[in-house]
Amino acid sequence: MNVPFLDLSPGHKAISSEINVAINKVIDKSCYILGDEVSSFEKSYASYSGVSFAVGVANGLDAIILILKSLNIGPGDEVIVPSNTYIATWMAVSNVGATVIPVEPCFDTCNLDPSLIEAKITHKTKAIIPVHLYGRIANMHEILSLATKYNIHVIEDNAQAHGALLDGKKSGSFGIANATSFYPGKNLGCMGDGGAVTTDNEDIYLKIKAFRNYGSHIKYINNIIGINSRLDEMQAAILNVKLKYLDDWNIKRREITTFYDSRLKWIDNLILPDNTQELSMVSHVYQVRTSKRNELQSFLQNKGIQTLIHYPIPPHQQKAYGHLGYRIGDYPVAEKISSMTLSLPLYPFMKESTTEFVCTSILSFFNKT
Ligand SMILES: *Cc1c(COP(=O)(O)O)cnc(C)c1O
Repeated sequence: MNVPFLDLSPGHKAISSEINVAINKVIDKSCYILGDEVSSFEKSYASYSGVSFAVGVANGLDAIILILKSLNIGPGDEVIVPSNTYIATWMAVSNVGATVIPVEPCFDTCNLDPSLIEAKITHKTKAIIPVHLYGRIANMHEILSLATKYNIHVIEDNAQAHGALLDGKKSGSFGIANATSFYPGKNLGCMGDGGAVTTDNEDIYLKIKAFRNYGSHIKYINNIIGINSRLDEMQAAILNVKLKYLDDWNIKRREITTFYDSRLKWIDNLILPDNTQELSMVSHVYQVRTSKRNELQSFLQNKGIQTLIHYPIPPHQQKAYGHLGYRIGDYPVAEKISSMTLSLPLYPFMKESTTEFVCTSILSFFNKT
């Protein structure tokens, strides 16, 4: 049996007639940039996220960059980022000329360890960017109280946790302004690139709305130097349909997670995801850890099961950050996670027989070894 890591087609099939109507409506109107679809998606996504404003932008990286710019964060400033995140979080900071200050995650949750943040705060620290990795909300209570204590901003990188709830509050509603991505494989994904900023702060909202469109609120009136980072009408029309299904599809993701948990919990040398806070988890990725990761991955590959590693090389070991002079051992938790982690196939509408096949294969690997 061939099992892809991610199959977007069954999800698409389930709603394809609605998507086709939405796409055709855009074509009939022939309005492709900053029209009704974008503004209506911005309203719905803000309301879904429990914030006053959302701005559609071109992708998740730009969403973080635009937030940093709107807060005047740049050269000479420091921004705290997780040492084990997807590299976009780091690159957003680097792209505005600020300095990344990596902080290690907790090994269990893979999210920022709040107890290590304080030691990294200096008079130059302007913001902390917690990432809700794999769909699990970071420890926002402690991060927010530290930020308040030192008067620094919190910006959530919410690219992996659309719809996650912590104490009844949605991810993307905790920071001063928060970034997300609608890359096709995310929990809420479009059919190309897309992203958004969510915020309760009207000043930031207005600034980012101008920044994403050449610094302009009114056509041909440019008040600041901006960029072109707009969510397009086609993607917004698709997102307007898909947003309605997000909660339902997150439930499907959780069901697969529960299935994996129940079948795999008997294996000694396999660490399962920390699911202690059920509702704060939207199962973007089902990540297991084992000292036999490479062997397990090739064993599954031979059975036709595709897995991925999130992420094989931590940002501090990437050539792009070679100039910072980090060495192996500088961020041991991030390094340990990257050496042990394996993400199993998981997507809405994955068949139970498929999940069962993945589990049986993993069980047989560990029985043999
Ligand atoms: C996907 C992702 C991003 C960036 O999103 P793009 O839309 O691809 O730019 C940022 N941060 C994290 C944690 C992500 O997973």
